Amino acid sequence: MQRDFCPGGALAVKSGDRVVPRLNRVITAFTKASLPIFFTRDWHPRNHVSFKEQGGIWPPHCVMGTAGAEFHPKLRVPREAFVISKGTKADLEAYSGFQGTDLEKRLKEAGVREVFLGGLATDYCIKETSLNALDAGLKVKVLQDCVRGVNRREGDSELALREAVARGARLVTSSHAVGLVTRVRKPSSKPRPA
Ligand code: ZN
Repeated sequence: MQRDFCPGGALAVKSGDRVVPRLNRVITAFTKASLPIFFTRDWHPRNHVSFKEQGGIWPPHCVMGTAGAEFHPKLRVPREAFVISKGTKADLEAYSGFQGTDLEKRLKEAGVREVFLGGLATDYCIKETSLNALDAGLKVKVLQDCVRGVNRREGDSELALREAVARGARLVTSSHAVGLVTRVRKPSSKPRPA
């Protein structure tokens, strides 16, 4: 969820910012349940291979250190959250949060067996991250009301979600995810009175 992918940004996804409030509810619920949160971000050098000038298909976006690479200003980013930068090498594209990063290692270290995915964009980064998460042996739930697609071709987002589901991902709503983790009680530090 970076500025450049939201309306007004260099590679804006239509209504991309509309998912922020729902994502924030999930982030708050997971934080309260002491569950780890991972933010992935495009963090490209100026001459990144995905940019049109270098023969890629995208306008320059999310150049490291620029305002466009910042998270959406309304996105809740807890201090304890992990931030994973991807696409940091000029000659490597990385739609997936796993590609060229230590995300898998960090998830394993945090004891994560299941991931809930949200953000932008459905037909690129969400799709590839879902597939790589499945490859890594994780259960994958895509928060279908917390994603938006680029849709260079009409229907790309639906196709992407269908492929992820065919490979074993599940589509759930943010309310479902919030309900689920709200019921998970973290181990109480105080013994219950006898
Ligand atoms: Zn990019």
